[in-house]
Amino acid sequence: MRAKDLDDVNEAAINALLNATSASRSAILRFDDDGVMRFKAWHGLSAEYRNAVTGHTPWRPGTRNAQPIVVADVSREASLRDFAEIFERENIGALAFIPLELDAGVFGKFMLYYSEPHEFDGEELALAQAIASHVALATEHKRLEAAGRHLTAIIDNSDDAILSKDLNGTITTWNNSAARIFGYTAAEAVGEPISMLAPPGRMEEIRNILDRIRRGERVEPYDTIRRRKDGQTIDVSISVSPIRNAAGEITGASEIARDIGGRKRAEGERARLLAAERQARKIAELLNQVGPMLTTELDLEKLVQAVTDVATELVGAEFGSFFHNVVNEKGESYMLYTLSGVPREAFAGFPMPRNTALFGPTFRGEDVVRCEDVTKDPRYGKNAPYHGMPKGHLPVRSYLAASVVSRGEVLGGLFFGHSIPGKFTENHEMIIRGVAAQAAIAMDNARLFEQAQWVQNELKQSNEELRGVNQDLETFAYSASHDLNEPLRTIALSAELLERTSADRLDKDGAKLVLMIRQGIRRMEGLTRDLLAYMAATKHEEGGAPDADAGQVFAGVLENLKRPLEESGAVVTQTTLPVVAMHESRLAQVLQNLIGNALKYRGAEAPRVHVSASERDGWCVVSVSDNGIGIEPKFADSIFELFKRLHTRDEYPGSGIGLPICQRIVERYGGRIWLEKSVPGQGSTFCFSVPLARQ
Ligand code: ADP
Repeated sequence: MRAKDLDDVNEAAINALLNATSASRSAILRFDDDGVMRFKAWHGLSAEYRNAVTGHTPWRPGTRNAQPIVVADVSREASLRDFAEIFERENIGALAFIPLELDAGVFGKFMLYYSEPHEFDGEELALAQAIASHVALATEHKRLEAAGRHLTAIIDNSDDAILSKDLNGTITTWNNSAARIFGYTAAEAVGEPISMLAPPGRMEEIRNILDRIRRGERVEPYDTIRRRKDGQTIDVSISVSPIRNAAGEITGASEIARDIGGRKRAEGERARLLAAERQARKIAELLNQVGPMLTTELDLEKLVQAVTDVATELVGAEFGSFFHNVVNEKGESYMLYTLSGVPREAFAGFPMPRNTALFGPTFRGEDVVRCEDVTKDPRYGKNAPYHGMPKGHLPVRSYLAASVVSRGEVLGGLFFGHSIPGKFTENHEMIIRGVAAQAAIAMDNARLFEQAQWVQNELKQSNEELRGVNQDLETFAYSASHDLNEPLRTIALSAELLERTSADRLDKDGAKLVLMIRQGIRRMEGLTRDLLAYMAATKHEEGGAPDADAGQVFAGVLENLKRPLEESGAVVTQTTLPVVAMHESRLAQVLQNLIGNALKYRGAEAPRVHVSASERDGWCVVSVSDNGIGIEPKFADSIFELFKRLHTRDEYPGSGIGLPICQRIVERYGGRIWLEKSVPGQGSTFCFSVPLARQ
């Protein structure tokens, strides 16, 4: 019993056996966990012998009521014949097996060896057996001791708090982890009530556990909270089992408490990451929508509201506003604002933000301003009369502002607020910088669109005015030619009468004067006719143009000009001509004028005229080239003026109205006419554009 460990026990036993019996050698063997009988201690045995007989046993492990077996003469024992040789070499003549047995049956044996055959007497065996039972007890004791130490080591090394308590809830044991987790040393905890671990309001839970234990129930692991010695509450998972004594009565409970703070923190972290990911996804989606949404919105007012709404949502502000400058028709600049997240009334009573230390950078187009807590910002509250936010203003702690700048011009500023400090992060700062840039582009777009619309309106208005003036001019030209015709007829009649009645009384000069009067009258009549023709050039065709096959129209024109063509011996060539959106008679008028001129302003050679057409972007350009006398470049424009002629009537007949009529016609269809090219003495090329017919 004084032995330190099993080796000590074995040593003492071997000595006792050798002293108490006449055996010269002895050994102790035990079944190992694998069921093989092995030498644990010996005296006077060779390694060879021990090896040879290891594993031999007359009993199986756990055999009960085993009795000593004595072999007085090994050479005569049939069951040991296999070992005869080794017995001889080891000089063993007799031996005895004495079982080591406890409640659980045989667990080992003692061996006694004699060099000669030996007669065992009862006393010798009784002594050996007595020693065996002592050794068995001592072995069990030491084994239990070791097992206890082992268990204690396991408990002490466990990460879980393992403790026990009696049925009154008094702590009876407390492992290292309990000390670590709860902060009380074993000395501080043992003897104290378990309720000291209950956080306020959790006493009931601890009482319930004890009640269940008294009823013999187990408490399966569940998550709860406990209080540490320092007062901090910790998350634990707890399981409790009843402890019974040898009689099966419940004497207390063992409790295992696992610190799940890490798990809870991990869960919290995971939830946080998930939320952050969801947030990031939402922002990405919103940002994706921002670009297209902003660039498609051309109504400046709606656009500015959309920017405010999106930006407020993106940065998670309680409210956001967009102050921007507008210029009215009088050219006066003033400030407007949109709001998001709050009704307009919330701001109605307050003055516009001014160029203060805080707002200034944004109105000046400087970088984003972000304050964790604006009330702690050195720039805050420096200006009279409010020194901070005016009374009744929405509370702002987190502050974020960005200017919207386009091509160096500050279009406005985005301002965001939140009543809780630290709401706006660096991320939000970047987001708002991006949104502000997109907003600038979109606002620029919208403004350009508005301007374009304005220009278009102006144009429409001046077109209408022009049409009015034209109308007046036409009316005037009509009445003028009519009214002129009246006195003209009187003059003509008078001249005729004069000639008829006074021809014989008129001298040569007088007759010449009358002739001149009549020539003048004819010219006057021609002019008024031409003027009316010019006015009528586009008169009757209002509304959309029908389609005209230019090829067919051209063939008709050649038919009309048959005589002059034949007389001049002209050669006319052409490419295919497309279908154009124009009245046939008008197209015929233009072509006939141009070809007529080509024949009229011919050179010495027979006229050669070429008509071609090219198509581009919905327009057809027809060109008419000749080999005639050509036009000096300086007259390229003036030939389209009314009554403009480059020659006298004697050289070439005409009134200078053909080209102006052509111009008036093509312009009526949105087209143009111009002298493309001309070299005096070599020929000219006139071009005009008219719309192609829609397919
Ligand atoms: P008109 O032929 O009645 O004089 P137009 O308006 O048709 O009036 O032409 C204006 C002027 O342009 C003509 O007087 C002529 O000097 C010049 N012109 C027109 N067509 C040609 C041409 N094909 N070749 C040379 N000169 C031309």
